[in-house]
Amino acid sequence: MRERLCPVCQIELKPQTHLGVTIDVCPACAGIWFDTDELTRLNGIGDDVLPRLGSMYQPQVTAYDPPWERKCPVCHEPLRSYRYLYTSDIELDTCDRCGGVWVDHGELRKMERVLEDARAMEVPPEAKAQVALAQIEAEIQQTTAKAEFWRGLFEFMRARPRLPFT
Ligand SMILES: [Zn+2]
Ligand SMILES: [Zn+2]
Repeated sequence: MRERLCPVCQIELKPQTHLGVTIDVCPACAGIWFDTDELTRLNGIGDDVLPRLGSMYQPQVTAYDPPWERKCPVCHEPLRSYRYLYTSDIELDTCDRCGGVWVDHGELRKMERVLEDARAMEVPPEAKAQVALAQIEAEIQQTTAKAEFWRGLFEFMRARPRLPFT
């Protein structure tokens, strides 16, 4: 496999595996390269996965001479910048050939807010409240079941005839 270079700093990206997905992180600018579908896969694992990844890596140095054109670390084709979820202020770079996505440091953390907004639009507040209620009820039931179990066990121990001492 040929080495993958950061589209900004032109240094080698370091492969990092999180939750079974291997991403390529730039040790200098903390930008992350996601191969096609890796961004979606990680986001599908949990809502906080991407923002957490974003705060896991911190930039060490900023590129003092960034290239005017960013190239795909895999295909070396120029990347095309686009807006995440079309309307957000998050700008990502994608490669039209391999479908990979380059995310500058800081953009993943912005995603948290954008995804929250997107979810808020999808789920009406009443439905959310119902889900919360159902969760609380399930928890109460679990606690009650646990209490019943211990009480039952305790009764059983007490009721058990003592063994005669010899
Ligand atoms: Zn870099
Ligand atoms: Zn590519």
